[in-house]
Amino acid sequence: MTQDTQPVASHYVDGAYLEDTDGTPIPVIYAATGVRIATVHAATPAVIDKALAAAARAQSDWARLPGRERGRVLIRAAQILRERNREMSVLETFDTGKPLQETLVADAASAADALEYFGGLAGSLTGEHIPLGGDWAYTMREPLGVCVGIGAWNYPTQIAAWKAAPALACGNAMVFKPSEVTPLCALKLAEILTEAGAPAGLFNVVQGAGEAGQALISDPRVAKVSLTGSVPTGRKVYAAAAADMKHVTMELGGKSPLLIFEDADLDNAVSGAILANFYSSGQICSNGTRVFIQKSVKQAFLARLTDRLKGVVMGDPLDEATNFGPMVSARQIEIVEGYIAKGVEEGARLVTGGRRADREGFFLEPTVFADVTDDMTIAREEIFGPVMAVFDFEDEDEAVARANATEFGLSAGVFTRDISRAHRVIGALKAGTCFINSYNDAPVEMPFGGVRMSGVGRENAKAAIEHYSQLKSVYVRMGDVEAPY
Ligand code: NAD
Repeated sequence: MTQDTQPVASHYVDGAYLEDTDGTPIPVIYAATGVRIATVHAATPAVIDKALAAAARAQSDWARLPGRERGRVLIRAAQILRERNREMSVLETFDTGKPLQETLVADAASAADALEYFGGLAGSLTGEHIPLGGDWAYTMREPLGVCVGIGAWNYPTQIAAWKAAPALACGNAMVFKPSEVTPLCALKLAEILTEAGAPAGLFNVVQGAGEAGQALISDPRVAKVSLTGSVPTGRKVYAAAAADMKHVTMELGGKSPLLIFEDADLDNAVSGAILANFYSSGQICSNGTRVFIQKSVKQAFLARLTDRLKGVVMGDPLDEATNFGPMVSARQIEIVEGYIAKGVEEGARLVTGGRRADREGFFLEPTVFADVTDDMTIAREEIFGPVMAVFDFEDEDEAVARANATEFGLSAGVFTRDISRAHRVIGALKAGTCFINSYNDAPVEMPFGGVRMSGVGRENAKAAIEHYSQLKSVYVRMGDVEAPY
């Protein structure tokens, strides 16, 4: 196991693995056992400098290639990822603890989708022609330069690819820093991009925690920073980027509402609530962790939900029958346990779960609180674990107002059979990524991102192109120039 998961070296820079053992050692712990499965070293200033220099060098030639040729490399990388889906999924499971049943379909597969989609778009990135009487203007879509990607630990392969694919399609180079909790998968993505024909230095991976992130952001060679992480980190990263007027994309946390009306198909609503709270053991930014249920169907909803949770199979994540894995780390399970204790202390009713599982690793039972009120800590703060808070409501206006009473705005969902209500409610909810009679779908064709404290910018879809390129406007005078003197 250790042999399989220990990477060749800590970093991937200029087309090859790179080690510098002067960097602080970072142990990689398998969440299902608590056992160390690899060690990497945080990037030293020398490694960061090498990565940025390589990226800057690679970027100018890459940007000059026809978009179609850039796209071909990304599409080839998508194909290799798909061929190695199982191997990548097993590594993702070791990196995060998520069950193989999930990683086989949601991680390398999503990364491949992004590479394929942006690979396909790369040849059609153009500016426009603007007629101005006899004169005219045109715009050119240009890359930003060297982009920095900084990842969270919940989707290490997907996050790296969701940033790399649009960045590279637009003609940028990238230095990616994975979360120090899950440093393994992005290295494989770098290997695959090289194998697919990406020039040395185009996509680099350096390890480390916040310090390495800050060193990257503040470097003058960097044009843009895309972060996936928490709101407190987002504040720091945005502020550091603002000092040099750098572009940013901020994919941050949430406390998203899921509204279930009495006319909803209750089984579908229960499925939606499960997907909105317990997939990846609740470690998903867009989760609908505030479930607002219309009073008349509250008892039926809770009864069906608790019944459905009997289908949870907690166990060895590498066993494909397992559908519920551990929390990512000892620290994360402690944070979530702290929130559960607060929920009980502040008077929420624990319907099910709430305890650590009696097994090695960081397993926590799927947890449901009912009778939650808007002022409770578990109603206001992002928990990032398998904890659902259920609130009752009487009518639509009340539900919408309470759903919007948060500083976050990443996602929102509604279950109802009334089509007018579905669109009216979604129109009134303050969130960037919404779902009607569904939850947590994230196809690459659909823009993904938040409003308010949940973020700035969008990932995926054509929208991401706007965030990895800039327009140059050119005015063309066809006649003489008239000057006043
Ligand atoms: P985190 O904010 O602790 O860390 C995120 C990344 O930022 C890590 O790579 C970390 O090393 C780095 N970092 C930390 N401090 C930094 C600093 N001062 N400067 C530069 N980089 C720094 O988040 P996490 O615990 O890894 O992930 C969980 C959080 O991520 C949750 O809040 C979750 O909602 C959010 N998230 C958001 C999305 C999204 O797309 N909106 C997706 C996944 C996770």
